[in-house]
Amino acid sequence: MNREKAKLMQIEVCNTALKMYHSGLVAGTWGNISGRVDDEYMVITPSGMDYERLAAEEMVIVNMKTLAYEGSLKPSVEAVVHAAIYLDRPEINGIMHTHSTYALTVAAARKSIPPICDDQVQILGGDVRLAAYTMPGTKEMAEAVVGALRGRAGALIANHGAITAGRTLPEAYVGSQVLEKAAMVYVNGQSIGGGVEISQEDIDFFHDFFLNKYGQR
Ligand SMILES: [Zn+2]
Repeated sequence: MNREKAKLMQIEVCNTALKMYHSGLVAGTWGNISGRVDDEYMVITPSGMDYERLAAEEMVIVNMKTLAYEGSLKPSVEAVVHAAIYLDRPEINGIMHTHSTYALTVAAARKSIPPICDDQVQILGGDVRLAAYTMPGTKEMAEAVVGALRGRAGALIANHGAITAGRTLPEAYVGSQVLEKAAMVYVNGQSIGGGVEISQEDIDFFHDFFLNKYGQR
């Protein structure tokens, strides 16, 4: 493992956790955040942490294949889910998991979010599917989430919350904001007859543009 890279990722995960805390996305309940170091290791927020007093060196370095970890703090119980996503998706380098209110509203109803917002389909890749209800921190949850995320950058987890994955941690962070907003639009839209779905052709165009042509590159 590249120690320097792991240290930089600990700082990035810690800063993103603080940003998430101050954005209100965690809403009094824990979410968790991780970043990939390499093919074998990731850095993830510790279990049951106090978001107000978070230090970079407390972010836990975890072996994704064995789930063995370094240091005295335990990684988040959902580390198994994060590890499964990194192992399944080599292009993914950052993951955010939240229990944000609107995402959880839709997940508690065991529904998915149809493709109704431009930024949703652009960044998340289409509808936001629902992973089946499973016990947190289990292999079953990891498998359900990996399946729901396939071809997407975001998914809901039944009765539990949401998860987003990005090529970078900032991309996963933006994804989590967009997912929460799409969930809110979906819920609020029910009062005026529901959102109208964007066509698959347009979804493909928008998502491809985001992945390949967007930005200053
Ligand atoms: Zn959770």
